[in-house]
Amino acid sequence: MAGKTEKIRALVMISGGLDSSLAARILQEQGIEIEAVHFTGVIHAGVYNEYNSRARRFADKLGIKLTTFRIEDDFIKVLTNPSYGYGSNFNPCVDCRIYTLKRVGEYMRRSGASFIATGEVMGQRPMSQRKPMLDLVEKETGLTGYLLRPLCAKLLKPTIPEEKGWVDREKLYDISGRSRRPQMELAKKLGVTDYPAPAGGCLLTDPIFTIRLKDLLKHEGLTMEAMHFLKVGRHFRLSENTKAIVGRDQDDNSRLEEIVTDKEIMLKLKDIPGPITVLKGQPTDQDIEKAGAITAHYSKAKGEGSVSMVKYRAGGEEACFSVKPAGEKVIAECKI
Ligand code: SF4
Repeated sequence: MAGKTEKIRALVMISGGLDSSLAARILQEQGIEIEAVHFTGVIHAGVYNEYNSRARRFADKLGIKLTTFRIEDDFIKVLTNPSYGYGSNFNPCVDCRIYTLKRVGEYMRRSGASFIATGEVMGQRPMSQRKPMLDLVEKETGLTGYLLRPLCAKLLKPTIPEEKGWVDREKLYDISGRSRRPQMELAKKLGVTDYPAPAGGCLLTDPIFTIRLKDLLKHEGLTMEAMHFLKVGRHFRLSENTKAIVGRDQDDNSRLEEIVTDKEIMLKLKDIPGPITVLKGQPTDQDIEKAGAITAHYSKAKGEGSVSMVKYRAGGEEACFSVKPAGEKVIAECKI
């Protein structure tokens, strides 16, 4: 944290979306040196690099340093046992803010930055952006006074950067509520362009991902490794212990091949183009046959008689068997 003669440097938490980009620009306009910090991991849509690239583009445009933090295994505890509960899906937003801000707080102390800024707007999100929650997050992270929200700062108590005159409170904002119009007007004023539509970044707010997460929690338990599979393909619960993940297209097939380990059995059609399927759990012969039938359903063999399937492992072992493509009833029964 800065002394009197040191240069003021702020860490701005950047998602790649509009609000955090505005927070960065507001401070930059005030002559504050900023460094963008960004979290990425399995809970974000796309593979890491896609999500990261929005933050990267923004940081490059502003000519600022970007530091990326990975969401680590310890996030599983936050996800399965949040102290402040969930939002409308599997999103433990208050605990998640505490988790990320604690890590950024440690980085601030290590790196000698003066304070942290976020793009939060009071009242924009029902769970984490109400005033009592903003206060609670500050307290729980030990960052009281060092957390500046430039978009709604005028609605909050002055922070240390304002009190010390590092930041001019008069040039901060009093935006509140769910409308994005004020931010869009501000974006024009500050020359912020190329920002994505709101939402879409965090999969924990996605109802389909939530169903998959609940199924995983019930049958396998949550691990980061298992969560990577939830982002890919169509999912089918075959039995208490076994799930099949069927690629929807070439991208899914490639992604499945990337993340599969030699623990999992994989299936593909022998002579016909189609999906790759990964079996998670402890598949019985019956599960493998059912997964083969589901795989064939999503190939050009749909509606045909018997087709040949290849069962294999990333390690190399291979065997063939025949199945009849599954009908709609089986698909509807098993689909997660
Ligand atoms: S939306 Fe997702 S990333 Fe954002 S605070 Fe909530 S849980 Fe965390």
